[in-house]
Amino acid sequence: MTFFDNAENRGHESVHKFCDSQTGLKAIIAIHSTALGPAAGGCRMWHYDCEEDATRDALRLSRGMTYKNAMAGLPLGGGKAVILANPDTPPSDEMFEAFGRCVDSLGGRYITAEDVGVTVENMRLIKQVTDFVAGLPPAEGSAGGDPSPWTADGVYLGLCSAVKHRLGADSMDKLNVAVQGVGKVGYDLCRQLHAAGANLVISDVNEKNLVRARTDFGARVVECNKILFEDVDVLAPCAMGAVLDAQSIPEIKASVIGGAANNQLATEQDGMRLFERNILYAPDYVINGGGIISVSLEYVGNKTKADVQAQIALIPGRLTEIFVTAQKQQKPTNVIADSMAEALVNAAA
Ligand code: NAD
Repeated sequence: MTFFDNAENRGHESVHKFCDSQTGLKAIIAIHSTALGPAAGGCRMWHYDCEEDATRDALRLSRGMTYKNAMAGLPLGGGKAVILANPDTPPSDEMFEAFGRCVDSLGGRYITAEDVGVTVENMRLIKQVTDFVAGLPPAEGSAGGDPSPWTADGVYLGLCSAVKHRLGADSMDKLNVAVQGVGKVGYDLCRQLHAAGANLVISDVNEKNLVRARTDFGARVVECNKILFEDVDVLAPCAMGAVLDAQSIPEIKASVIGGAANNQLATEQDGMRLFERNILYAPDYVINGGGIISVSLEYVGNKTKADVQAQIALIPGRLTEIFVTAQKQQKPTNVIADSMAEALVNAAA
């Protein structure tokens, strides 16, 4: 399949491929939309089986960022970077600097930050060569830093609104929650769920992360291929995307799904599959907007942690609006969220 035939290539403004032979960098930056402002979205470093998979990921994720930023009320468009990790060679500092120069070459049309596989330390290296970066260590009390804890805050608040809507529960106390992936966001989400009295069941392919969450929160551990199908109230996908599909959905027992992972639905039809099973799905790009809210306020400057908190506190209300509209119109929540986001972008364009 050529790039131009890629089904995920839907209205993107531009897609840029970079390679740097000295550092081994191979990266793709996809800019989906700058209608609402510069395209912002994290940089993911991942080992892809082939370049086509990496391109598809960049295309899907960047479009999701357009919707996420619009729904978070941010003056930002949607973009995303992926670095094609080489399993045989760990990334060098020079490679991240080379990536920073790629970002810089786009003249501010794309702003980068952390995503899976990329750290605050990497952002520091990128900052040496470009200003179009956020997610840097913040000054005391200021907005910024690793966006993951903010993402977890938004997911936690969003789940509270979802269980209220679907189960009539006023808190997470005694609810059973399955968390797939206990990395940066998943771990912090578990911390908040545990503090609220939820019973946790977790899985992760990374043994160290798994042991940490099990030890700290008394979580029950299950194999990775079982976590989606646990007999729980809530399923929180916090690993990778496309986990909700025609095969998995019929076997899911949770009545609420909401988590940090981007692109949880393998296809748009999977939203309908969840709707038909009466499973309430909190659209990923709405519930996981906390991190980009932090990134955005850091980038704008002169904003505090309290400002970030205040914007994240709006996430549950937005979700409730989606849930209520979906119920009234008898449509899947992803369809309602997409049309709300598209209306915002089209109005700006
Ligand atoms: P992370 O890399 O720190 O954590 C992901 C965890 O998932 C890791 O522990 C990894 O081992 C685990 N994992 C991978 N494949 C798995 C599988 N098949 N089964 C179980 N576990 C598996 O990443 P993160 O920053 O916590 O992000 C998690 C997800 O949330 C990603 O999809 C990311 O794009 C999304 N997200 C993150 C942020 C953020 O602020 N970090 C913001 C929005 C969305």
